[in-house]
Amino acid sequence: RAWAESKLSPELLKAVDKAGYKKPSPIQMAAIPLGMQQRDVIGIAETGSGKTAAFVLPMLTYITRLPPMSEENEAEGPYAVVMAPTRELAQQIEEETNKFAKHLGIKVVSIVGGQSIEEQGFRIRQGCEVVIATPGRLIDCLERRYAVLNQCNYVVLDEADRMIDMGFEPQVMGVLDAMPSSNLKPENEDEELDEKRIYRTTYMFSATMPPAVERLARKYLRNPVVVTI
Ligand code: AMP
Repeated sequence: RAWAESKLSPELLKAVDKAGYKKPSPIQMAAIPLGMQQRDVIGIAETGSGKTAAFVLPMLTYITRLPPMSEENEAEGPYAVVMAPTRELAQQIEEETNKFAKHLGIKVVSIVGGQSIEEQGFRIRQGCEVVIATPGRLIDCLERRYAVLNQCNYVVLDEADRMIDMGFEPQVMGVLDAMPSSNLKPENEDEELDEKRIYRTTYMFSATMPPAVERLARKYLRNPVVVTI
């Protein structure tokens, strides 16, 4: 299978080519088309599978459909948030996102512990489309009103099981609750979706599905497609 079948925009296909990714990995082939249709996804996948690009590419596709960040909307916060359990993973995700985002003029800010929170809040307020964060630091930023998530409708929980193991369940939920709930898809799967409007898209990656992760998925994901590779 080839990238040409992925329905990514020509500019993203060019960015993928520049990254040197000759063909999509199995998780990418399965997950990218779902994210492009605003479907929620539960990905059971390990590091090394190419899971990062599997959520980054549909996320960037979503962002390119929105107006660029400007003085008019940057105070309303980023368009997308990725949460990860550790600084190291957040930094890897940032690198992977920037491989593609830099070609599209999309700004990415990472919010992790061990750095000045005032400085991080300042960088978000200066305008960025994507925030990549550890949950504890991001909730701190929100509680201090250094940042808001008033226009964030694309969210990724990477290594959800590890975030839960590390005790981050309340912080993860706090961040999700700070996003506009009016854009959550209806719980009733028979209800017709309006193709013209924006719904919140939620991606959850986890190597395992313990009860606490199931609970999180039931509360925040809507008719998720489970992708196992
Ligand atoms: P991940 O599982 O997301 O941590 O990715 C593992 C590594 O594979 C990273 O270094 C990526 O840059 C790389 N990678 C991801 N997708 C592809 C692809 N389709 N072709 C080649 N390398 C890839």
